[in-house]
Amino acid sequence: MTDNRNDDFDFREVTDDERVDIQDTVETDKTDSPSDKGEENKTEYEDVCFVCRRPESKAGKMFHLPNNISICNDCMHKTMDTVSQFDYQNMLNNPTLMNELNKQTGMPNFGFFNMGDLTNGNFNMGGGIPNTQKIKKKSESAAKPAFDIKNIPAPHKIKAKLDEYVIGQDQAKKVMSVAVYNHYKRVATDTMDEIEIEKSNILLLGPTGSGKTYLVKTLAKLLDVPLAIADATSLTEAGYIGDDIESVVSKLLAAAGNDVEKTEHGIIFIDEIDKIAKKKNTTSRDVSGESVQQGMLKLLEGSNVEVPVGAGSKNAMVPLATVNTRNILFICGGAFPDLEEIITQRLNKQTSIGFDADLKDKYEDDPNLLTNVTVEDLKKFGMIPEFLGRLPIICSLQALTKEMLVQILKEPKNAILKQYQKLLALDEVDLQFDDTALEAIAEKALEKDTGARALRAIIEEFMLDIMYEIPKDENIGKVTITRDYIEGKASPLIEIRGDIVQPKLPQLNIEQATNA
Ligand code: ADP
Repeated sequence: MTDNRNDDFDFREVTDDERVDIQDTVETDKTDSPSDKGEENKTEYEDVCFVCRRPESKAGKMFHLPNNISICNDCMHKTMDTVSQFDYQNMLNNPTLMNELNKQTGMPNFGFFNMGDLTNGNFNMGGGIPNTQKIKKKSESAAKPAFDIKNIPAPHKIKAKLDEYVIGQDQAKKVMSVAVYNHYKRVATDTMDEIEIEKSNILLLGPTGSGKTYLVKTLAKLLDVPLAIADATSLTEAGYIGDDIESVVSKLLAAAGNDVEKTEHGIIFIDEIDKIAKKKNTTSRDVSGESVQQGMLKLLEGSNVEVPVGAGSKNAMVPLATVNTRNILFICGGAFPDLEEIITQRLNKQTSIGFDADLKDKYEDDPNLLTNVTVEDLKKFGMIPEFLGRLPIICSLQALTKEMLVQILKEPKNAILKQYQKLLALDEVDLQFDDTALEAIAEKALEKDTGARALRAIIEEFMLDIMYEIPKDENIGKVTITRDYIEGKASPLIEIRGDIVQPKLPQLNIEQATNA
């Protein structure tokens, strides 16, 4: 094919032969599946730009639109520019204008905006955008509030539900239940407010693995609201490498299935919030610390943000949706490791004067020091006052004790032990754990200092052999895990079907399991 390109990229009349060419292409394209066509293009034919008719070798890489339409980079940009300059909807609706345009472009009965005419109207610009990038239409039920005040469970009911999943952390569960209850009550009464109820965003403090994320996840599930979990460490001030602050709203929109209304009642959990503390002794611009806190102020308080639909960042090809964050509940969580030092210093100062002065190291080894936190401590840590002002509810989680870890192993609805028991029950094997074995697992987990997170790793380690060996022998009816097995001193107790007890099973390689 010849190069039909004019220097200033004007359109020209299409000759009759070429017209046949176009129609031929369209005819064949219709019969091929897009993937077939793609294959074919790669092997036999060059893509030709649908608009300027230049082949791939001249025009460069093509955009592939549905119905096997390819458009070169230049034409696509020109189209985009035209689209952004004109009221094209109006133009489309105006037949005289369209006819004139068709005449001018020399295209057989199509302008830039009704390319679908050539493909039996199968194609329109909207049809080419995947569903992930489309905003959902408002549902029929959109008129009534998503949360009817009568349907919000009372705080004690929320807490009772949380109790089924989250072990311990009573105070945190109580505070969260009330906060969430109030928040959604506020959302529900939005229209009749004379006294405006302030937004109750939450700051969750607690050592790693103490259940911060788990608590929020469970809460969102119980309330049936969308939840986005973001990491504050990846956020940077707009314009710098990293995620824009608004990307958290975009995540929530995705979690809500691109339903803006659902998004506006969702929960955003921002983890590792302590990592955006003001950097100390820095002369350069603090783009991932203080600036992020500043940038989050508007979001926390409530503002309209334009977020890309179905993509991580804004660009010309992605549609935008406007989301109001006024009713989005923000929960920020962090371990605040150095905060303990600040609290200890303050507490020591308070108690080292006077007759009832305490011992200096009284607070040093207290694992629940974070429960004594004040806003002043957080300011000292590097959180800016405006930021803290927008997180009025501060709540601390306790470090998990051995007893709590044992409970976590066996009590929650989807406890790890229950999961393994269920797996082996499918092989008709009864898996039991000695109480002493559970304690041994908890002790090992405490040593790792990563809270409940260590439990799974430890269990996976020694369960591997069991899960490998047990299904081998169909006679095994029951396996009991003991402390000795966890500590690598003995095999688990095996019972063969028909109640013959065999204390040891030589083929189990427990050395490997426990030393791993
Ligand atoms: P973090 O506090 O670091 O966010 P996570 O919430 O991610 O910790 O906890 C890790 C895992 O440990 C959770 O998925 C959950 O299974 C378990 N877990 C932690 N704390 C608890 C708890 N209090 N009750 C039940 N499970 C817990």
